[in-house]
Amino acid sequence: MTATSRTVLVTGASRGIGRAIALGFAKRGYDVALNDIERQSEALGDVAREIEALDQRAVIALADVSRKAEVQAMVAKVEAALGHIDAIVNNAGILISGSVEGLKEEYWDSVLDVNAKGTFLVIQAALPGMKARGYGRIVNIASIGGKHGAPEQAHYSASKAAVMGFTRVLAQEVGVDGITANCVCPGIILTDMGRVNLDDPEIRKSWQDKTALRRIGDPEDVVGAVAFLASDDAAFITGQTLNVDGGIVLS
Ligand code: NAP
Repeated sequence: MTATSRTVLVTGASRGIGRAIALGFAKRGYDVALNDIERQSEALGDVAREIEALDQRAVIALADVSRKAEVQAMVAKVEAALGHIDAIVNNAGILISGSVEGLKEEYWDSVLDVNAKGTFLVIQAALPGMKARGYGRIVNIASIGGKHGAPEQAHYSASKAAVMGFTRVLAQEVGVDGITANCVCPGIILTDMGRVNLDDPEIRKSWQDKTALRRIGDPEDVVGAVAFLASDDAAFITGQTLNVDGGIVLS
């Protein structure tokens, strides 16, 4: 750890995009609080060791982000361990496919609870500390699925659109406190979740063909945009949504 280390809390950090973001911040000199759900504690320990090997502090912060009491305890633990939280990356998310007509109510609830409510709960728990210091960077991982979406993912799309709307209003509420809030929308990224869209070779090819850069993304492709939005270079950017999708949704 360096005396000037910044601190970041990354949710869903045991694998995929969250793991890449956590390591990316450590490489940029941050101490990192690693959240995931309890069943991922072993994998989270591996990420923590990778961060310590980069000479940064790693704090394991288990919690189901959809449960308020767990989230409040997690944020208190991270603040006690790292002193404060400079940046939050709300990355934890789930995707359960199903068409609207047959979708089980419990699937709607789970996807909205983790993706949308989880983002809200983590931010709500961390805001008092950020406000007290007059500084904060919040980056919420939404999805191009929240803008366009794909069949069998209407509830996932709704959850990510909720994250974007929430972030736009949050930015207006907390700007006065020196806190920025932005979204990053990954495209098709090769992770355990991304494989849902990629297992079938024909579907995989069709996604590649729809992508200007003609390739599927790696988790590392998402890191730079997130780190930028958390950095001082992005001090005057808030309430925005940035696609990191190789050119699928063009705006
Ligand atoms: P992933 O490989 O499935 O990793 C997500 C991580 O979040 C897992 O470790 C998961 O644990 C954890 N998690 C799930 N529910 C949680 C909860 N309630 N509390 C805390 N942690 C929880 O997914 P990914 O592809 O890296 O996706 C990361 C983020 O990017 C998600 O928000 C996703 O919606 C978004 N995204 C992904 C893609 C893509 O193509 N991969 C595209 C656009 C957006 P369990 O597996 O044990 O549940």
